[in-house]
Amino acid sequence: MVESVFTPDVKFQPYWWDAAPYRPLPTVDLPKSVDVVVMGAGYVGLSAALTLARGGRDVLVCEMGAVTNGGASRNQGQMGAVFKRSFSQLTESYGRDKAVAIMKSGRGAIEFTQNLIESEQISCDLERNGRFVAAYRQEDYDAMGRELEILKREVGFAGDMVPRSEQTKHIGTDFYFGGQLRHIDATIQPAKYQQGLIDRVLSAGARIAEHTPVTHLERDGGLFRITTPRGTLTARDLFIATNAYTGDVTPDLRRRVIPLGAYIIATEPLSPERVKQVMPTPRALHDTRKLIFGMRLTPEHNRIMFGGRASLSETDPARTAPRLHRRLLQVFPALEGVRVTHTWHGFVAFTFQYLPHIGVRNDGAHFVLGCCGSGIAVGTHLGHTAALRILNGRSAENATPFDDLPFETRPLYTGRPWFVAPTMLSYAIKDMLPRHHTGA
Ligand SMILES: Cc1cc2nc3c(=O)[nH]c(=O)nc-3n(C[C@H](O)[C@H](O)[C@H](O)COP(=O)(O)OP(=O)(O)OC[C@H]3O[C@@H](n4cnc5c(N)ncnc54)[C@H](O)[C@@H]3O)c2cc1C
Repeated sequence: MVESVFTPDVKFQPYWWDAAPYRPLPTVDLPKSVDVVVMGAGYVGLSAALTLARGGRDVLVCEMGAVTNGGASRNQGQMGAVFKRSFSQLTESYGRDKAVAIMKSGRGAIEFTQNLIESEQISCDLERNGRFVAAYRQEDYDAMGRELEILKREVGFAGDMVPRSEQTKHIGTDFYFGGQLRHIDATIQPAKYQQGLIDRVLSAGARIAEHTPVTHLERDGGLFRITTPRGTLTARDLFIATNAYTGDVTPDLRRRVIPLGAYIIATEPLSPERVKQVMPTPRALHDTRKLIFGMRLTPEHNRIMFGGRASLSETDPARTAPRLHRRLLQVFPALEGVRVTHTWHGFVAFTFQYLPHIGVRNDGAHFVLGCCGSGIAVGTHLGHTAALRILNGRSAENATPFDDLPFETRPLYTGRPWFVAPTMLSYAIKDMLPRHHTGA
């Protein structure tokens, strides 16, 4: 009989919900009109709602499902600004000044979010332990080293290269070819962070209506007329924060966002010795594979969480978890026999430029979409920035390097990313090519 990778009491839901279970919000009577409707109760929508409510606006957040529906309570809790584009690639596409501004904005977003968590006293297991980016190939290590020199010079980036001979101080495996330590990154318990934001938003006087999808939008004079299955209301302003869950109600945005399924497993509790053996420090970790894998310790420092795109098209965690488990053992053979207690998935929003987008639609609705896997920091910050624009208009103070980026789409793309499976397949094949060790 094939040994199951699951414990008998495995849960097909985020590990985070054990410590931060879903709390249904009190039912909200739909008002006839408000100042601002926010679509989506993830970090972006909540961050904007907080700033808007504190700025004196009457705000209603409409959430399609439960507040746990989106990525906010399902992600891996690694706080950083990983734009998936190197400084050199950004310089090639947009010029050096914009590349510098984008990199600086990433650091600004991390600082903003860490400050918000601390100043609001949101109890979400924030640990400022940095991130280790593990090199899957020797050439990745070399490229990261060259990039780091440029980043230090151009934007004062705080990081260090760690050769393979020293990597076990950071990750207990010889699977990788060294890596890069990024000092500013952090980890959080994402569901607790979302709940903390929800509490602050409600205290600031905004309302959050769960199970209230926005199904139709139209302009009515100077107002937005917003339809939901529970009724229709009007709003002076509208903020769209639907990310990977963007649907047909905003088809123009849907065809600019690429939703990718991402999967996570959490192991059963490990002994302190075993933890020390595989993850000697509690910090964010990911590798440089084309199909990136992220890993971390849980806030209790006794389980390993491991995530990535386990499958090209599958969305059933019961089937993807064994594949992720195999990947886990590939990185940490010392975890042989360790079983999975939790597994789940959610959707991450990518864009064709691999950069987040903030802007205003033709009808005047504001949006922030496509944080490309860095929504904790970048989404929180851009949600706040968009709210400042709704309150005070655009100004030099709330400018971002993403303002004048065209929000690209591709011919025939309507929001169902048929090209993802072939792309992922080509990535998976590239990841399988032999790796050679040539350096330290
Ligand atoms: C498995 C996984 C791992 C990840 N790991 C990380 C990580 O380590 N670090 C990191 O920074 N990011 C990570 N991410 C991405 C991160 O979760 C997102 O960037 C973040 O949640 C984005 O916040 P958001 O508010 O834009 O979107 P979401 O949190 O996804 O919220 C969007 C909300 O909009 C709602 N909605 C959609 N349509 C409508 C409608 N018509 N009406 C009303 N509501 C609507 C949805 O129900 C949803 O709740 C991960 C994501 C996943 C799935």
